[in-house]
Amino acid sequence: MTAMIDVRGVRKSFGPVPVLRGVDLTVAEGSVTCVIGPSGSGKSTLLRCINHLEKVDAGRVQVGGSLVGYREAGGKLHELPDRIIARQRAEIGMVFQGFHLFPHMTALGNVAETLVGVRRLSTKDASVRALAALRDVGLAEHADSYPRRLSGGQQQRVAIARAVAVEPKVLLFDEPTSALDPQLVGEVLAVMKDLARGGLTMVVVTHEIGFAREVADSVVFLDDGLVVESGPPAEVLLAPREARTREFLDRVL
Ligand code: ADP
Ligand code: MG
Repeated sequence: MTAMIDVRGVRKSFGPVPVLRGVDLTVAEGSVTCVIGPSGSGKSTLLRCINHLEKVDAGRVQVGGSLVGYREAGGKLHELPDRIIARQRAEIGMVFQGFHLFPHMTALGNVAETLVGVRRLSTKDASVRALAALRDVGLAEHADSYPRRLSGGQQQRVAIARAVAVEPKVLLFDEPTSALDPQLVGEVLAVMKDLARGGLTMVVVTHEIGFAREVADSVVFLDDGLVVESGPPAEVLLAPREARTREFLDRVL
């Protein structure tokens, strides 16, 4: 299996505070990795380093075999021009806790606008593809609805449709269900499960341990900026080796 995402020795501090202290992460093509860990352990920062929303202080990130944000020449890393980084980011989709939909655009508009902006499709082609993407998340009949008319679960499904429509190589999820009322969590997880089954490479920061157990190929427990333990869910979630992992799971389960 080839590594679709390869994170090596990534360090990141904000001012004097180290947030990532040498993180390694390998995600095989077509696999799902769930990242779990306490609040403040660096999970969001790790995702943001993968798509170069944060610049790493040390280490490197590769997606699809290419360095993200840099090119290597003469043994040194040189940051890439913004337009190249934008092109790389098109291959690294992200879904946030807070949906981040454009409020003044319909569901269809949200997805189509992104396709026009990122993939340079014509308005007509973008609309066709956007409708198909909304159909895939069960929202074709809400294509003309504005976000405020949709439930949180529906809004998050639009955000997922928007990310998937771009056809990224990988999709990163940062606590996609944490802002939702409990009864809306299931519909979003179901859509994510479909995507996983379809072979999309996914990294999912989540507190939904049941989802991780059922869907993840690999689970990573991050604590205090370090990977404490990683492996198949049956090991990390059901028979953790590290005391810190056990303590965390006892608290969230
Ligand atoms: P998690 O997602 O696991 O809750 P984060 O990656 O969001 O953790 O944050 C880890 C730590 O880094 C926290 O202490 C947070 O306050 C700090 N942090 C995150 N982003 C910034 C930033 N842009 N500036 C300063 N500190 C930050
Ligand atoms: Mg976070």
